[in-house]
Amino acid sequence: MVRSAILRIGHRHDRDQRVTTHVGLTGRALGADGMYLAADDPGVVTSIEGVARRFGGSFFVQNNVSWKRCIREFQESGGAVVHLTMYGLRIQDKIGEIRTREKVLVIVGAEKVPGEVYGLADYNIAVTNQPHSEIAGLAVFLDQLYEGKELDLEFPDAEISVVPCECGKEMVER
Ligand code: SAM
Repeated sequence: MVRSAILRIGHRHDRDQRVTTHVGLTGRALGADGMYLAADDPGVVTSIEGVARRFGGSFFVQNNVSWKRCIREFQESGGAVVHLTMYGLRIQDKIGEIRTREKVLVIVGAEKVPGEVYGLADYNIAVTNQPHSEIAGLAVFLDQLYEGKELDLEFPDAEISVVPCECGKEMVER
């Protein structure tokens, strides 16, 4: 299985906390190993780590990274950098090639992404060429990358597990 991590850029402290938290939670639920946050927002880190602790697994969040260094180091270690953008090539035309890579860093923006990112990325990929959201783009990208297998992921050492239920809410706490 291809390893994946997320690089969140353009996060604005007061406006994007909820969305950035959901980027991390979506990445965790759908198979990413962790998220690099190119901004200083310990509150986002605490929220995601709290969910990861209670619901299991080993998702990491690294606060306040330099996005340029993160991209460079990921590429130097043999990984492919995929920038999700409505202006990119169609995911359905490129995902097969991306899947052959050992690991992938998925960049998602908030407002305007610096132009340099387009040149540094190995792939600029669009999940449709229509404007929508980083959470939706990331979810579809990971589902395409993992071909639905991420839906069967297990999260070890969980304090709380949800029991699938036709009606109502059932959980097991350890
Ligand atoms: N106008 C902004 C720009 O210049 O990129 C759009 C920002 S959009 C609200 C936030 C992020 O969502 C983008 O940086 C991109 O990562 C993701 N996104 C939005 N639409 C997308 C699409 N069709 N395909 C892939 N990613 C998308």
